[in-house]
Amino acid sequence: MPTPSTARPEWTIPIDPALQAELERHVLVTSWDKLLGMVDTVYNWGRRSALWPLGFGLACCAIEMICTASSRFDIARFGAEVFRGSPRQADVMIVSGTVTKTMMPMIARLYDQMPEPKYVISMGACASGGGPFKEGYNVVSGIDKYLPVDVYVPGCPPTPQALLHGLITLQRKIDGEKLDIPAIGRKGNTPWYDPDANRDVPVPVLGPDLIDVRTLELTAERTAAGLTEAREATLPRPALIPAPRPEVPEAEEAADGQAESAAAPSGRAMSKIELIRAKSRGEAVPEGAAATAAKKAPARPSRKARVAPSRPTLVWLGDDGLKDLAGRLDSEFGEGTATVVRAALLVPAGKLLDVSSFLRDRNPIRYDYLASLQGVHYEDCIELTYHLDSTASPGSLIQLRVRAAEAEGEGEVPSVIGVWPGADFQEREAYDMMGVRFSGHPNLTRILMWEGFAYYPLRKDFLEPYYEGPAKVFPSRIEEGRGQHHRAEEFNPFGSNVKIPKGFRGWDGLDPAADAKGFGQMPRGTGVDVQELDTEQFVLSMGPQHPSTHGVFRMNLRVDGETVVGLKPVMGYMHRNHEKIGERNTFLMNFPFTDRLDYFTSMLNNHGYALAVEQLMGDDAKVPERAEHIRVIMAELNRVASHMWSIGFLLNDLGAFFTPALYAIEERELILDLFEWAAGSRMMCNYFRFGGVAFDLPPGWVDRCSAIVNDRLGRKIDELDALLSENEILKDRSRGIGVLSREQAIAFSTAGPVLRASGVPYDIRRAAPYSIYDRFEFDVVTATGGDVYDRYHVRLREMRESVRILGQALRALPEGPILPGKKSYQIKVPAGEAYSRVENAKGELGYYIVADGGPTAYRYHVRSPSFINLTALEAMCLGHTVADVVGILGSLDIVLGEVDR
Ligand code: SF4
Repeated sequence: MPTPSTARPEWTIPIDPALQAELERHVLVTSWDKLLGMVDTVYNWGRRSALWPLGFGLACCAIEMICTASSRFDIARFGAEVFRGSPRQADVMIVSGTVTKTMMPMIARLYDQMPEPKYVISMGACASGGGPFKEGYNVVSGIDKYLPVDVYVPGCPPTPQALLHGLITLQRKIDGEKLDIPAIGRKGNTPWYDPDANRDVPVPVLGPDLIDVRTLELTAERTAAGLTEAREATLPRPALIPAPRPEVPEAEEAADGQAESAAAPSGRAMSKIELIRAKSRGEAVPEGAAATAAKKAPARPSRKARVAPSRPTLVWLGDDGLKDLAGRLDSEFGEGTATVVRAALLVPAGKLLDVSSFLRDRNPIRYDYLASLQGVHYEDCIELTYHLDSTASPGSLIQLRVRAAEAEGEGEVPSVIGVWPGADFQEREAYDMMGVRFSGHPNLTRILMWEGFAYYPLRKDFLEPYYEGPAKVFPSRIEEGRGQHHRAEEFNPFGSNVKIPKGFRGWDGLDPAADAKGFGQMPRGTGVDVQELDTEQFVLSMGPQHPSTHGVFRMNLRVDGETVVGLKPVMGYMHRNHEKIGERNTFLMNFPFTDRLDYFTSMLNNHGYALAVEQLMGDDAKVPERAEHIRVIMAELNRVASHMWSIGFLLNDLGAFFTPALYAIEERELILDLFEWAAGSRMMCNYFRFGGVAFDLPPGWVDRCSAIVNDRLGRKIDELDALLSENEILKDRSRGIGVLSREQAIAFSTAGPVLRASGVPYDIRRAAPYSIYDRFEFDVVTATGGDVYDRYHVRLREMRESVRILGQALRALPEGPILPGKKSYQIKVPAGEAYSRVENAKGELGYYIVADGGPTAYRYHVRSPSFINLTALEAMCLGHTVADVVGILGSLDIVLGEVDR
């Protein structure tokens, strides 16, 4: 028989008589509200002291977020013990990093899956407002456009301590909360809290752009009215320059002539910035104004648009070798097959496949390695450039040029996948960004944007929705723009940075549940024979938010039981418009953006970018000895830090959750301290400058660095080796798994430890030496098995080689200047082309720059080792189990900032 309930008159809810007696005996209840207040206190204490964060890591900030779990910062002391992998188990979502349009629907869906009450911490400038990527064509300017944010943590990135402070702030907020208790009719102070409510901000849709379905009607109306087109009519258009021609000296003269005749519009004296911008656009302006301008600021000879010497990269085949090669191709395939155009071979698209096969298989130097492939939008064509090297004769790099029609969607060239399978993702990228079709490509779909996106963003005529001009400095920030400063929203007809073509009619077909990003990326069976139970195959989507994918990356797997029989990487969830921004930024302003590519290796990224621009600048950017040494020291420290992290987290992937990673993070922290001391920042160091480095080393830095290098790192590497290399579980889980043969590794254009673990001794520091690497003794580490274990072991041994280089560089570090002249914010970069190559921790990091003599790059492309290494992923995974896929991906050591750029 149930216990009859009794109620005190002033209490409105029934209470168990036994409990009532107990309360009256032991608790002094002066009023129900006070009791509830105590309950709130206890309840809030419980909630705030056991926050379960869903670490929603999107980009660089995520790494600082992960560091809060290390022993140095120890998030557990702040009441948030364990990062959750599932939204169902979490009550606070820490959005750390850049929120892209591609990722936004995923974030909203996962937020919806968290139980109430739930909170959001926005970590970093990007999550809070778009940060440095604000309003890029694939970036959302702040997560609060779609989620209710409780705490904003400023910084780019915020330090781990700043995130912990954010956590404390959230805890204080929770302390002050009173939840609604409808059962007793109590209203709390959290009107948002309704455990049964459906979300009021619907999941946005990836259509021709990201579409907020709350504004669907308005957006459709404005699109029909042609507001995008009307706005664009008022914007300055970037000037297109013609593709390079063989007759260089005349072109040079013409460029100089243009610079000389630059003049002011409508009789008004041109400002300095107008002159620079007019020149960069290639515009001719009336002569009178030029004279006026000249009077204001007398033109120096250096003001003329200089042309850099023609060479594709610092170490290459050379002029004579290139002429011989052109002659050989002509005699093989007919006169006119290859024309030397500015130190590269121009080949007709129709002969590309023949020429490619010849270069790989029959030329005396076998060009078996496609280092890089990219497109440039010129006035008269889209030019595809192919950088080729030979693994047998490294340093013989050549550049091929192939031209396609300029008009949007008209360009077509044959795919070279059959010759160099490493072209796969690179051709898809050129298609996605430039609209060039590659005939014969088996899967020519968008790779960084999504199917259905309406534009080709790296064509020069693609104007981004927000921006007021194609290149910095924007008119509203310079003298003629005084009083005309606008907010982003005013520039945009939609109130946010979306751009939809007037002809778009498919509003009714927009579906928030559609998978625009994964569409077309479902792997087909690849003939892997599974000799086990007769099971149904199915497609499994891993990612784009999954603890094992090392960032916002997705793999669509076709599995037969546990066996992988097909795999397609799906990327672009972190595409932050890096190259478009690089063409908008002035050369100097682009440095900090390179930090954020592979956000573990900002020093190495800086180095590569500096080399590309310095190649164009020639002696104006000759690096002094001290700076060269400092550069090498920073680069090698960074390699050790990156490899440490990579090994620690590979062990996570293999099942040894977090202990090895904690050891690795500890060493990395010591290196980050050195970076912070010298550059002012732990991760985003922005430390290199054209011709040197930004600051000299502070007093005491060399001693501290030497102590870490000489007394600690070697010992710690030995410790890792002793703990891991002979560990039976590690060996069982990594030996013979994810094997990439030597031939496959070269064919897929893999680089770095991935390539070397397959037995190819190709390291840019030796293959095409840069900086002062040719002065140091170190070995190029290789292995022969090409499996997960060898990739781990190559990294481990490479750290020892870095320590060797560090010891030599620290001992040889001379006194002297760190820059060739005074610090300057005015960089003059001659017109020309340059491809720089550095050995990043992940492999060959290349920067391809086309400069037109203006203050910004005309074309800026990054050859990303993480991106290209992924081309081999499917081949490495076929026939293995799902659990092995996690380890194989970990052994590639990808960083999404660099994959997606
Ligand atoms: S750029 Fe990177 S570090 Fe800066 S706020 Fe964005 S995600 Fe964080």
